[in-house]
Amino acid sequence: MKAVVTGGAGFIGSHLCDYLIAHGHEVTVLDDLSTGSESNLEQVAQNTSFELVKGSILDQSLVSDVIAGSDTVFHLAAAVGVHTIVDNPLRSLHTNLHGTENVVEAAVSHGARFMVASTSEVYGKNDADGLTEDADRVLGSPLKSRWSYAAAKGLDELVAHIYGEQSGIPCVITRFFNIVGPRQTGRYGMVVPRFVSQALNNEPITVYGEGTQRRCFGSVFDIIPAVVRLMDTPAAYNKAVNLGGQEEVSIKGLADRVLELTGSSSEISYVSYADAYGKGYEDMQRRMPDTTLANRLIDYAPQRDLNDIITSIIEYKRAEDAAPQAAVV
Ligand code: UDP
Repeated sequence: MKAVVTGGAGFIGSHLCDYLIAHGHEVTVLDDLSTGSESNLEQVAQNTSFELVKGSILDQSLVSDVIAGSDTVFHLAAAVGVHTIVDNPLRSLHTNLHGTENVVEAAVSHGARFMVASTSEVYGKNDADGLTEDADRVLGSPLKSRWSYAAAKGLDELVAHIYGEQSGIPCVITRFFNIVGPRQTGRYGMVVPRFVSQALNNEPITVYGEGTQRRCFGSVFDIIPAVVRLMDTPAAYNKAVNLGGQEEVSIKGLADRVLELTGSSSEISYVSYADAYGKGYEDMQRRMPDTTLANRLIDYAPQRDLNDIITSIIEYKRAEDAAPQAAVV
């Protein structure tokens, strides 16, 4: 495979690069390093089959140049994290809409099959017991910028789907459900690395709202091989596929679990949504994937439970603290 990974210096993207390089593929990353970091790519950068191009997916001619000659594009570059979206709604929207259009257009015009990373956010406030891929989107008002990420990602899916259908070029849309792992930073939201850092520093654990909202966290190490397998699975083409974990937990329950696994003496501090994200913020109360489709297509069966996921973050943060010069957070 001659692959391009947009957003390859980010959390999920860099793990994908590790996997592709380890499996003998050629990889070019396009990343503007706005939220990603070169240190995430330290290992793969040693390999002669790897190249990092620093630049934006909003730069149409650069995107086209980078994709020319490749056979596969993994599009992971995006403005992500609730804080990023809430603090910079317009820039996030621009990147997530036009950036994806540029990448998909270039992939199609150069005949490269492509994967577009989407998110469980597209289901909005639908709190069904196991969201299947055809579940309805329940979004709040379009005038609330909080919903801009979900709205943009929904349009990204449409762009990918329509281009894929019209061109006949293989395309896969992956919907990630709260994926967690080493290299993820808590700076832009992402609750697990935040709680682990707080616990390791004996700072208060900041539970937003009442902590009764529930999530189902998935390991990055389970989803990366799944993403690559989906690209080789014709039955997955032009479909959106849920990928995530199976163990549901409340955010208060997550805080307790982090405290238990770190042995920290941190207190739990309840923070109102208004104080956390600004007035009028609407959280999703529940987000639970139904992964029957992934299971059927590629025998997807996640191996890591919540304790494994939290432990991997604890080990990563401890190693980082021991070597501050390589810190990523
Ligand atoms: N959250 C929290 N404390 C934090 C960060 C997040 O209680 O310091 C909550 C957040 O309100 C949400 C859940 O944890 O209910 C997951 O947040 P994250 O940003 O990781 O992902 P989301 O599911 O919101 O996209």
